[in-house]
Amino acid sequence: MKTNLSTILLLFISCTLFAQETRTNKVLIIGIDGCRPDALLAAHTPHIDRLCENGTYSWDALNDRITVSGPGWSSMLTGVWPNKHGVTDNLFTGRNYEEYPPLFQRIEAYNPDLETICISQWPFIGLIMAREAVDTMYAIGDETHLVTEAAIDALKNRNPDLLFLHFDDVDHAGHADGFSAEIPEYIAAIEEVDEAIGAVMATLKARPTYDNENWLILSSTDHGGIGTGHGGETFEERNIFFIASGDYIPNQEIKRDSVQAGETWVYDYSRTPRVVDIALSALEHLCIPVESNWLLDGKSVGVTCQSVVTGIEEVKADISIAYPNPIKAGGSCYIHLEEVAPTTRLQVALYDLKGQKILDDTPFLNASNITLPKEMVAGIYFMKIITPDQQVRQLKLFVTP
Ligand SMILES: [Zn+2]
Repeated sequence: MKTNLSTILLLFISCTLFAQETRTNKVLIIGIDGCRPDALLAAHTPHIDRLCENGTYSWDALNDRITVSGPGWSSMLTGVWPNKHGVTDNLFTGRNYEEYPPLFQRIEAYNPDLETICISQWPFIGLIMAREAVDTMYAIGDETHLVTEAAIDALKNRNPDLLFLHFDDVDHAGHADGFSAEIPEYIAAIEEVDEAIGAVMATLKARPTYDNENWLILSSTDHGGIGTGHGGETFEERNIFFIASGDYIPNQEIKRDSVQAGETWVYDYSRTPRVVDIALSALEHLCIPVESNWLLDGKSVGVTCQSVVTGIEEVKADISIAYPNPIKAGGSCYIHLEEVAPTTRLQVALYDLKGQKILDDTPFLNASNITLPKEMVAGIYFMKIITPDQQVRQLKLFVTP
């Protein structure tokens, strides 16, 4: 990602004006209880791999020192650590959800018209964290396929803005046979959840309204494990994975930093995601303003609240990228809009995924070469083109290294 931009983008917009409608931002959270990142990497998980390929992910994310399910899911869904939400065990005693409510409450308080759905294999998440606020709670038995079937029903027959799924069989396999990439039963449980995710994602993408929706898929776990247990402070128990996947999420892996100290390497995890980042990323995607007096501990990772205009996919097909690159540094972008007179000026702005404007230009049409900023790195950008009659086109640019 650090290479200089060295590509010519040939941008050819030949389509006529397409209908512009804002897509509805929606969130799917896939929680996989007790799933160690190293085992996830060792397992055959094509569907989780696909989520990573379309987003930001980390195998070096962390939970805090209480690696127990009740506190773990509370941290994930409230966005604060146990010293605030108060949950330190699986009985949820001492919970302070009044002051630090889970995501379901936050969303419903912001806009009761948003539909929230909770499907949890471990019933306590539904009964204790979601029940009072959530629009729909599925009562299911303790099996992976029941989570899958309920999720498919929710995506087919309801219209969730937040759909939370909790899978528990990976944790069960860890307790029965061992939390380790070396344990075939543990790996098999992860692969079964991956298949479930495949079925859920296929249903999600088959929604009749999918083209008008902008889904963020978040996935993480509440803790890892060591031997056949968890709850302690070892790295194996604290290390979790973090995935934020979606069409407008930068594709990047967030790794720990490695520093050589004499003979050994020291790993610095201070910049990797935390379990509390899930709630904040979900709020950000739903464009729910986070108030400072909520005292949340997490941050949004790779997710920026943005309205996405439909028609982008249509335009995307018309972007061609010249490769290998004929120039060494900098690049240019040729814009041609057939239906606009060549003597008119366009307003062109380029934004990075954080919403930062990195280019402003007013080229003429039909002979319009826009010089791209030299410091531009490979990644995804948004280009906004405003024609003299104030028609706005937004499109996604893929810049390759
Ligand atoms: Zn757990």
